[in-house]
Amino acid sequence: MLDNDLPEIDWDSMTFSYQKTDRMYVAHCKQGEEWQPGEMQDFGDISLSPAAGVLNYGQGLFEGMKAQRAADGSIVIFRPERNAKRMQEGAKRLGIPPVSEAMFQDAVRQAVLENLRWVPPMGKGALYVRPLLMGSGAILGVAPAPEYRFLVYVSPVGPYFKGGMKPISLKISDEFHRAAPGGSGGVKAIGNYAPGMVPSKMAKAEGYAEIIYLDAVHHRYIEEVGAANFFCIKDGVVSTPELTGTILPGVTRASVLEIAEDLGYEVKEEKVDVEYAMSADECFCAGTAAVISPIGSIRFGDHVYEFGDEVGPVTQKLYDELTAVQQRRIPDERGWTVTVE
Ligand SMILES: *Cc1c(COP(=O)(O)O)cnc(C)c1O
Repeated sequence: MLDNDLPEIDWDSMTFSYQKTDRMYVAHCKQGEEWQPGEMQDFGDISLSPAAGVLNYGQGLFEGMKAQRAADGSIVIFRPERNAKRMQEGAKRLGIPPVSEAMFQDAVRQAVLENLRWVPPMGKGALYVRPLLMGSGAILGVAPAPEYRFLVYVSPVGPYFKGGMKPISLKISDEFHRAAPGGSGGVKAIGNYAPGMVPSKMAKAEGYAEIIYLDAVHHRYIEEVGAANFFCIKDGVVSTPELTGTILPGVTRASVLEIAEDLGYEVKEEKVDVEYAMSADECFCAGTAAVISPIGSIRFGDHVYEFGDEVGPVTQKLYDELTAVQQRRIPDERGWTVTVE
């Protein structure tokens, strides 16, 4: 097969997993200086000093977006300026020179444009876009690295739900926490994710799809579901945990809140007591990868709380509206989709 030939991609059997693509974006910056203009290069391994700040002390951030084929035939990205801003917030927290919104968006645009053949047909998944920002320079003591790298690579992914939305079973952790006040839970710092792998694996071994974390101070308020935000609906009120610094401010979360309000629901961002959530009519989690995943049951201590085997009516409405806007199947009146061209 020639390198440029479209590989025989079976779009219908794609899952959410890594797939090597053609090109990637790379930019460099020295501490205290401006970012050099980035450039596209062939996708491949990168070289780093063994003393790179990111390898030794986790000085790194990531982002995640989806480029999708829309109903009008164009390729669109959902609210990328929000990801750009979130990465700037993260950079501030980790002592990394921030990447401007314009540079971020240009990098994302180029990475998608030079991998166009990997964008799945509409409804068959998306091209997942992964920006990385890291301390690449060598440093021995615990301090910000002398040099930084900003990369953007892409990978095609299948739809999260094979054969429709099936409510998932989750477990509330009575042993682990994701983030503590004053820490880095509110930014997409790479170091936040490895500590969740074993808890998540343990939950999966017991038959649960993911773990739900409670807050680290009171062990009483719901925080997040793995790497997705939590929502519950009770008596027509849509609630999600308020952003207190330990919860990742999801772009999907913010969009669901706005859509719910526009659809006429009462919306609350507040501390969500686990007892309140367990008495809810519907629960779901929301994120770029998961979109909106309905929750069918939650184990909390010795009890299993059931929310039904079917997708709840409010969850379904929010899902339909969100995905219709993301794929421009309805007019994008909020200006949330950006055409890649
Ligand atoms: C990325 C992420 C989310 C979801 O954010 P989106 O912007 O909606 O993709 C939620 N929680 C955590 C911990 C995350 O890392």
